[in-house]
Amino acid sequence: MTTQAPILIGDRTITAGEQRYVHLPLPHLYTHARISMPVYVIHGLQAGPRLFVSAAIHGDEINGVEIIRRVLSTLNIKTFSGTLLAVPVVNVYGFLDKSRYLPDRRDLNRSFPGSEHGSMAAQLAHQFLHEVANLCTHGIDLHTAAIGRDNLPQIRAHFKQDPELLAMAQAFQPPLILSTSLREGSLREAGFKRNIKIILYEAGEALRFGEEAIQIGVEGIFSVMRYLGMLPAEQPALAKPEPLLSDSSVWIRAPQSGILHVKVGLGTAVSQGELLGHVADPFGAHLEKIYAPKTGLIIGVSTLPLVHEGEAILHLAHLMQSDTIASAEPQHEIEPEPELANL
Ligand SMILES: [Zn+2]
Repeated sequence: MTTQAPILIGDRTITAGEQRYVHLPLPHLYTHARISMPVYVIHGLQAGPRLFVSAAIHGDEINGVEIIRRVLSTLNIKTFSGTLLAVPVVNVYGFLDKSRYLPDRRDLNRSFPGSEHGSMAAQLAHQFLHEVANLCTHGIDLHTAAIGRDNLPQIRAHFKQDPELLAMAQAFQPPLILSTSLREGSLREAGFKRNIKIILYEAGEALRFGEEAIQIGVEGIFSVMRYLGMLPAEQPALAKPEPLLSDSSVWIRAPQSGILHVKVGLGTAVSQGELLGHVADPFGAHLEKIYAPKTGLIIGVSTLPLVHEGEAILHLAHLMQSDTIASAEPQHEIEPEPELANL
């Protein structure tokens, strides 16, 4: 085994066996306070895959920040090959504001590949893509549902187009893997065009720490690093069930404005025509029932009981292994409106 060559990130050269912080400069605040994107780099002694793990591309999605903290606190560089670039807070501005967006209301995950002299979002996207993602062979991007929603822990990957992404997603061992198309301007789309293998982990709620979502995320990242050969293989203490696979999903919308009562939780398997809840006026007089349009698994749910007609309230995934629906483990969690969907 040969010692791997140094890597240049920003203005820092990091040699084999070294781990250190790099601060990538970003546009200042209007107070002139300096802003940078902090990256922690672990450059193993031996060559291997280069993996980035990113969080808070949407600044209010903070489960991933804690996931990365726990991964870094546990990782042993002595047994580590390849390179890890950990970026717990990509959208620094949104994180400061506890907001999904940038100060100009742009969505960073619609701004890739960005440009050096474009909008704030374009500059941030460009910096992340050029100084982090472009150095990597693989990536794991951590998200949660948008505000007022909750997501079942799940991996999203363009796996129908790329079997390698499916293998990586299966290595993560989430409860569910959902094939989603690539949204224009997303990090996953930019990665796909550059042959960087990127999977997206969606779990829990914005502005909260969800312990189950965090633990599945931490274990998933270690499992992917073992799968990629960055860490020695290890016998799992307990065999986990195979992730369920879904090739499509639909949003169920409020049939009228009113107060929402949902009778099903995250991870519930439902049958076509099954009663899922209702929307009523505050007195309960004008009540509209909500039925499952298809058989599938509940993977996202609104946590806010006040809805307008047409609002997305439940996210239903169609399972590819329909014979396993009955054995789906009931869990408790949800996701964002289609127009806010992470990807
Ligand atoms: Zn997100």
